[in-house]
Amino acid sequence: MIVSVNEALRRVGEPFPFAWEGKLEQQTYAGDPVRFVGTGKLIGTYVYDGKTFRVDAEAEASYETTCARCNKPMVQKLSFSFTEHFVRSVYKTPDDELYPYEGEKLDLQEAFFDNLFLEMPMTTVCSETCKGLCPICGADLNRGQCDCQKSKIDARFSALESLLNDHKEV
Ligand SMILES: [Zn+2]
Ligand SMILES: [Zn+2]
Repeated sequence: MIVSVNEALRRVGEPFPFAWEGKLEQQTYAGDPVRFVGTGKLIGTYVYDGKTFRVDAEAEASYETTCARCNKPMVQKLSFSFTEHFVRSVYKTPDDELYPYEGEKLDLQEAFFDNLFLEMPMTTVCSETCKGLCPICGADLNRGQCDCQKSKIDARFSALESLLNDHKEV
């Protein structure tokens, strides 16, 4: 995700377009591996203000995950956009929010993954209508109702029935 910015360094204030597409290496997020599927995409502009670069980007990536309800493996596609600033590494201070660059190249990878993880949802579902797994027997309820639910309803009804019967007897 390296962009050559030699032209822009000489033409302050002028925005330049860039586009990148390629394989994304496996990352670790919150202690878990994140495996990407297909290619990641990045498109946007960069502009030099005489001191820092401003990068505006639209990005896209797909990664492997599992449905939070039914546990089925699935691919989640994420589209996100970000604006980040880059400063020559010798001017970078520990508490600024700038990304460092050297020479006449910006490496957008760190900014890409930082923003991707910000956008990553805590839970993903294979479908909004996914019924998930039965909490009792673990059956996939998308494939049909198991017997647990029925017997729970039966139990509820018989409890109600005996309540009504008790009432009658009083
Ligand atoms: Zn599911
Ligand atoms: Zn069940």
